[in-house]
Amino acid sequence: MALYFIFWDGVGYGKKGSEKNPFFTAKLPTFQHLFDGNLPSLSFKRFSSDIVSLSPVNTTLRIPGLPQSGTGQTAIMTGMNASKFVGKHFGPHPYSTLIPIIKEKNLFKQLQKMDKTFFFTNGYPKRYFDYIFGPKGRVPTIALSYISTGKNLNTHEEVKKRTAISADIAGTRWSELGHPDVKPLNPIDAGKLFYQAGKNIDLNFFEYFVTDHAGHSQDMAMAVEMLERMDGFLSGILEEFDFEKDIILMISDHGNIEDLSVKTHTKNPVPLIVIGKHHSYFSSRIKNLTHITPAVLSYFSLH
Ligand SMILES: [Zn+2]
Repeated sequence: MALYFIFWDGVGYGKKGSEKNPFFTAKLPTFQHLFDGNLPSLSFKRFSSDIVSLSPVNTTLRIPGLPQSGTGQTAIMTGMNASKFVGKHFGPHPYSTLIPIIKEKNLFKQLQKMDKTFFFTNGYPKRYFDYIFGPKGRVPTIALSYISTGKNLNTHEEVKKRTAISADIAGTRWSELGHPDVKPLNPIDAGKLFYQAGKNIDLNFFEYFVTDHAGHSQDMAMAVEMLERMDGFLSGILEEFDFEKDIILMISDHGNIEDLSVKTHTKNPVPLIVIGKHHSYFSSRIKNLTHITPAVLSYFSLH
């Protein structure tokens, strides 16, 4: 049994059928199949079946302004209201006073204390390491959380060996990133790889940031492509997925891609998508970003 945690950045509920909402331009057969022909939108916020639930999650956490990734991801990974602690939404990197709290209280660290096994499947190019560990660099929240457990982030070597996954799923940019030996991967195969990598551990984590990037770019073609990659990735995971035992939990830190009429984040709620027979354990507990890590930890304390 494994919990597959998919964090996608900047994905909220948008207007149904809007030409500025790529969910209604992209071909998303896997999502549609899960939601009985529908797609998440402000007019289709909730859905529940035997195998899946869809429910809205608040990202503003009672703090004015637009939600940001530093505080939002800290809320997801630690369960604390990081925006309230800082006094504002802050991002994209973690606010300085949050760093020691993230290192101590993040989901991976707490799983480690419970003797649970986990993996952060993303693999990154050398350029990424040069930046985040460089003089002006900051380590993003999820990577920081993982490193705090004493584990190393995956590099291009692991992506090449197919034991890690490119942060854009399909790995189409490795050549321009200086690693021409790392070949692209079909999103469905990336999903299968993610499933296999989680099969014998408790939690497998994947972070997908390109959705936020597409939203800031206000680029419909890119946004469609990034959503379709995630749809393929999901279908790959579901090929061998055990609905009795396995769980997929998908969450975002704030809205963005669902409204390409603005280049900023949005205050829209984000969809919590939980797949697997035990989905309601999560959807009944998670109403805002601070509820995610506590729900995952309480689930593991029972399983
Ligand atoms: Zn952003």
